[in-house]
Amino acid sequence: MSKNEITAKGVRSADLNHSTILIIGGGAAGMAAAIAARRSAKGSGKPCSIILLERNPRPGTKIRISGGGKCNVTHRGSPAELLEQGFLRRNEARFLRQALYSFSNSDLLALLLLRGVETEERPDGKVFPVSGDAASVARAFEELMQESKIQQHNSCRVRMVERRGGLFFVTTAEAVFTADRLILATGGVSYPGTGTTGDGLAIARSLGHSIIKPSAALAPLYTIKAPPASLAGLSLRSVSLIVTAGGRSAERRGDLLFTHRGFSGPAALSLSRDVAELGNGALFADLFPEQSSAELEVELLSQARRNGTQMVRKFLQGCPIAPLKGSFGVAQQGTIPTALVPFVMSHAGLENDVTWSGLAKEKRQSLLSVLKRFALGNVREVPLDQGEISAGGVSLGEVNPKTMCSRVVPHLFLCGEILDYAGEIGGFNLQAAFSTGWLAGVNALHAVERAE
Ligand SMILES: Cc1cc2nc3c(=O)[nH]c(=O)nc-3n(C[C@H](O)[C@H](O)[C@H](O)COP(=O)(O)OP(=O)(O)OC[C@H]3O[C@@H](n4cnc5c(N)ncnc54)[C@H](O)[C@@H]3O)c2cc1C
Repeated sequence: MSKNEITAKGVRSADLNHSTILIIGGGAAGMAAAIAARRSAKGSGKPCSIILLERNPRPGTKIRISGGGKCNVTHRGSPAELLEQGFLRRNEARFLRQALYSFSNSDLLALLLLRGVETEERPDGKVFPVSGDAASVARAFEELMQESKIQQHNSCRVRMVERRGGLFFVTTAEAVFTADRLILATGGVSYPGTGTTGDGLAIARSLGHSIIKPSAALAPLYTIKAPPASLAGLSLRSVSLIVTAGGRSAERRGDLLFTHRGFSGPAALSLSRDVAELGNGALFADLFPEQSSAELEVELLSQARRNGTQMVRKFLQGCPIAPLKGSFGVAQQGTIPTALVPFVMSHAGLENDVTWSGLAKEKRQSLLSVLKRFALGNVREVPLDQGEISAGGVSLGEVNPKTMCSRVVPHLFLCGEILDYAGEIGGFNLQAAFSTGWLAGVNALHAVERAE
């Protein structure tokens, strides 16, 4: 590696460790930024050297493990729909708006197709490569980077960044790189084994940025008392999962999975960020989220009148969850699994063989409250490292959403999961990383051009 030398005009142009744009992090955001920067440079016809530093032996580690190795690369819909479905906090959706319009899901899929990666939409709107191979997406981006003549340094972990004399000095174990513009795309802090240990957050803080403390998101919920072993693996379809803590509560609708340590599945993963923020509260499931308590009571009363001799237990077995209003008999999205019924009965204090006609009013009301608020236990932990993503990161107020340029440090750009947003499951997080990366790449170059 050559040694940098600063002259009155900056770093010597012949210096191999100097670049116009340097990107730290070769994930979805960093690779998109590199490719976008090169395309913009070609368009402008001006010379632009681009270096990407990645601490792993290869870029795209998280893409390769995404979607269980199948890569849910994005979601169906217009940018407005993606923002509404994928980013439930309005300030985050607002922040991502420009990025998702500038480099949309269609743009992403077109780019992948260019490298031969065909994709397909699932009925729930998730988009995957037809091959079911996440590595094909990572490979496509690697190839696009090679075509774009990005100078890549893999197995190259950045330790420190300083800004002096209008330049960024980027220190790794082997060398000091200098750059006119810096793009920080080091991801979040979950799954640290993939390289995301929060280095970028420390770097952003050292440069003057405020960091919102990282917290878990899209993570499983571990309870103080694990669910009964007999329920591990059981899935409840389309329930409402509720957390309450210190007089506050949050709720999410979806499927819920019992695990050996607590809960997972879409409802638990989606609620995990709120659980982490509220501070380990009590969990409940509303097994009949479509109906109010009063409506459900009418149904139970009518059942008692019509089928007095029927055992309540028998009724509950296979009882459709979330039935259409006023019609228990209609087959619906889910049913109360047989294995859960004894727990519903015992939570409500009902004898195993009680019939509708033998059910006293207070017991019926107890059953009603259990069905509407089935206690799942108290949360012990929302493991940050187990989340598909982490919330928190560089404060959004300190980044210009139109360019991804820092409002704190001139010529610094930030993109991807390092930023304080967190999307839902469904391909929204990769799309956000690609989109913010693309916007940063395009604008990093424009910033260079403006400075000339
Ligand atoms: C198991 C799992 C499954 C997922 N599945 C999906 C899915 O199907 N769909 C979806 O939309 N999202 C999914 N996600 C989330 C998604 O992968 C991330 O949100 C997205 O990859 C973030 O992209 P990024 O570029 O911001 O960060 P990353 O992809 O994390 O990339 C950051 C890169 O920076 C590098 N880096 C960090 N520090 C340094 C340093 N000091 N020096 C050099 N390099 C450094 C890291 O090694 C890493 O390669 C999943 C996540 C996980 C963990």
